Amino acid sequence: MTKRRILIVEDEAILRRIVKDAVEEAGHYVTTAEDGEEALRLFRAERPHLVIADIMLPKLDGFEMVRAMRKEGSNTQYLFLSARSTAEDVVEGFRVGGNDYLRKPFAINELMARVEALLMRLGDDAESDIYKIGRYEFDCKAQVLTIDGETRHLSTKESALLAALAKEGEKIVSSQCLLTEIWGDDSYYNLRSMNVFVSKLRTYLSKDKSIDISAIRGVGYKLVIRK
Ligand code: CA
Repeated sequence: MTKRRILIVEDEAILRRIVKDAVEEAGHYVTTAEDGEEALRLFRAERPHLVIADIMLPKLDGFEMVRAMRKEGSNTQYLFLSARSTAEDVVEGFRVGGNDYLRKPFAINELMARVEALLMRLGDDAESDIYKIGRYEFDCKAQVLTIDGETRHLSTKESALLAALAKEGEKIVSSQCLLTEIWGDDSYYNLRSMNVFVSKLRTYLSKDKSIDISAIRGVGYKLVIRK
């Protein structure tokens, strides 16, 4: 099974905890938010595969929040979870871009069945491009690097460079190849720029001491993970 990033937005602490535990137990990465604004910030940083959203939330309600997330156009599924259960609420949930709607109270196994069904819709393209680098996990499509539940959003160039290195395992990737593919040409100026990006990646990966990006002078780089 593929691990996915799931954002749970719920202001009731106990329910948030119950849903979080169930989703984690199913093997996914979970982040949680207590209000709509915090959720929107996390959404931008992590680009989750699925958002499980309550509707009556502080600061920004679930409908407005999902509408805002939808506008950003990522490949995300949305599941509303709400005590508001009139037909109008359900219709509004779908109208703002929800993919499913579950009325509270609900059985946790029904929630999980719906979660898995929504994640299936993401298809195979969403599951590729996840690399394990030492203790880090790097999702190159989402441009997110994760360690111990902490995430960092990478820029497009940082992400392309790390993906190019990760793809080759411990083989050397030539500077010329990296420069042409990512920077467009292998000018001296771009070579200097690439070196700066390599330093940044080393810093980002520094929480796992077994990882290094070693430079092979005049040739290129390789990603090394010491056993
Ligand atoms: Ca609520």
